[in-house]
Amino acid sequence: MTPPRYPEARIPVRPALSAASFLPHQHTVAASVLDIPHQCLVTSGRVALALALRELKVGAGDEVLAPAFHCISMIEPITSLGARPVFYRINADTSCDLGDIERCMSARCRALIATHYFGFMHDMRALREFCDANGIALIEDCAHCLFGEAGGQAVGAAGDFAIASLRKFFPIHDGGCLLSRARSLSHIELRSPGFAFAAKAAVNALEYALQYHRLGAAGRLLRLPLAIKDQLRTQAKAARPRAAAISPDSLDGGQELDLDWIDKRISFSSRYIIAASSMRRIFDRRRSHYRVLLNFLGELRGAAPLFSVLPDGIAPYVFPLRVDCPETVFPALKRQGVPIVRFGEYLSPLMAPRRCPVSDDFSRRLLQFPCHQELSTEEVHWMTQRIKDALGENP
Ligand SMILES: *Cc1c(COP(=O)(O)O)cnc(C)c1O
Repeated sequence: MTPPRYPEARIPVRPALSAASFLPHQHTVAASVLDIPHQCLVTSGRVALALALRELKVGAGDEVLAPAFHCISMIEPITSLGARPVFYRINADTSCDLGDIERCMSARCRALIATHYFGFMHDMRALREFCDANGIALIEDCAHCLFGEAGGQAVGAAGDFAIASLRKFFPIHDGGCLLSRARSLSHIELRSPGFAFAAKAAVNALEYALQYHRLGAAGRLLRLPLAIKDQLRTQAKAARPRAAAISPDSLDGGQELDLDWIDKRISFSSRYIIAASSMRRIFDRRRSHYRVLLNFLGELRGAAPLFSVLPDGIAPYVFPLRVDCPETVFPALKRQGVPIVRFGEYLSPLMAPRRCPVSDDFSRRLLQFPCHQELSTEEVHWMTQRIKDALGENP
């Protein structure tokens, strides 16, 4: 059976560049993973994860504890280094099931990956103690969590390493970061990703903005770089039909990890956009959109928000909604162009079936709606109305 084809999302599922992305910097009140001192900016979160494992010299015969609720791109770095993922259960509040982790632990385990799902950070102290007691490393997966503080610690600070997926928070094509509070990363030598990649990264960010009319009249100026891009692509194809890709497939929606990209630097346009972005705006607008979604979708029949309280100091990645009948609600929304993220829809085939009931339930029922800073309040309202309609609530 071929998967159904849905129209393009009517509003952007991820941040689209706009002039407002560059509002003057204002100091953020919240701690951010990007405050962690040692940093290494690469092209994606999965590359950062592979680098963390490589730093730990994880390889063939080793095991890495990974959450049963995951995306394939979190598992690829483990297997691509020849190591084996061991899947541990998560609790219904998305925290790690420490009892299950203890049962999974073996002499071959080298590291534990813990994820702060959807931007809702968990206190890492018990996990830190567990890792210290067992002599394994803690890797904090902050792909969803740019801001946060729990148990007196900033997000990413408890881990030997932390990783971030910057494409989820900034209007950029490529971007991930390996971070460490205590270990210097200056010995990691990164290579340039190449001019063609730099051009592609810049143009993709602009094209995406243009698709959603984020650039106003300035959009007309984009014809030139777009023409250059098409020219480059045609020439490259003509000259070297089977040449190395100018960009990893992972950045075009794939789940895999391309080891060729593990030691390549982030593109300069993405680095520029990150440096020029207002962290305050990201923090404030994501929180305010989340509150609107909670207000309108907090008490519905047939669906419940995974987190009905927005803690201080965090800025959500998305609004996760647990839906009783995803088989009807999902297509109904997609047909209307409502953007939906489905983190964890596909779980690793390496994991035993029914390994974790909570993960199975989330994998099937959890739909995630964007709440990023580049949505307008009107767009968020439009989305909430479509969701209510799809759930059969009277407008
Ligand atoms: C997206 C994601 C990653 C990988 O980040 P990419 O930038 O897509 O490579 C890792 N962990 C989690 C939890 C993610 O959602």
